[in-house]
Amino acid sequence: MNEKMTFCEECRKDVAYYVESISMTGTLKGEEYNYPGKKAICTECGSEVYVAKIEDGNLKALYDAYRQKNDIISLENILEIPQKYNIGKRPLSLLLGWGEMTFTRYCDGDMPSKQYSDVLQIIYEEPAFYLSLLEEKKGNLKSQTAYEKSKRTIIELLGGQNTEVSKVEDVIDYLLFRCEDITPLALQKALYYIQGFYHAFMESFLFSEDCEAWVHGPVYREIYNRYSGYRFDPIESNDEFDVSVFTDSEKAVIDSVIQNFCCYSGKILERFTHSEMPWIKTRGKLPADAHSNRTISKEIIGEYFSAVKQKYNMLTPNDIENYAQVMFSRSIKS
Ligand SMILES: [Zn+2]
Repeated sequence: MNEKMTFCEECRKDVAYYVESISMTGTLKGEEYNYPGKKAICTECGSEVYVAKIEDGNLKALYDAYRQKNDIISLENILEIPQKYNIGKRPLSLLLGWGEMTFTRYCDGDMPSKQYSDVLQIIYEEPAFYLSLLEEKKGNLKSQTAYEKSKRTIIELLGGQNTEVSKVEDVIDYLLFRCEDITPLALQKALYYIQGFYHAFMESFLFSEDCEAWVHGPVYREIYNRYSGYRFDPIESNDEFDVSVFTDSEKAVIDSVIQNFCCYSGKILERFTHSEMPWIKTRGKLPADAHSNRTISKEIIGEYFSAVKQKYNMLTPNDIENYAQVMFSRSIKS
């Protein structure tokens, strides 16, 4: 039945109808508003007929007129916010410090107050404002996953990893706090494994920096230069570190790399990375002792560590252990 039918009170039967646009007036919160409305007309007797969908549309048009006049965010924009930032309606409400169901009610058409509307309008228009809210109020959320999912989306929206503050400095500080005798060579390897395994588990990179395929393995050049004075000696450790800079997932991956890789010397770890695809593929046919500043691309690192995670059936970052043990037993045989 393609034709639109409804019951006509005059004709006492279901009839076809047509729709006319008319200007309507309605009252909301004690004020009158003009809005573009519609009415359905019976094609047989010409009297107005009731069609629920059209009545709903008229009510929405009245609300829209109210929103426009009072500068209240539109329902369309409200509905776009959770998609735009990959966050649920309830978590968003909690981030805002509102009742858990408040935002859901606005999505169902409830009219926000001007004050709440202004907050939603800024969030809708300014991803950077939303990001600062997310960071500041993440403690309000019931799940860490909701935070991390939304964070990834917002970072992409803001133009990708490169504009994001890299966590490399925090990770270095933490490594120097946790590991008492980490040499520059071992530090480079630890950073490399943290970058790789974090991507395997979270599908995003912790560092924007790229590493290069040097003779002794993957190297983050700037960081190498910073600590090169230590040569083969351990870098001076940190006495203090505030771990709250890391999310639970970040900390889980970093801790597992510390536990499972940082127990080996830089030289042993060099054997690990020399047997792994990213370093080998990036160096190509270069002689073993040839200097190179070729970048080991993030794509290759991501691809390799995702494959490792799959091959070793890793469910949580603790499972990195199996891989490290296999790499170690291979390295002492070779
Ligand atoms: Zn009729």
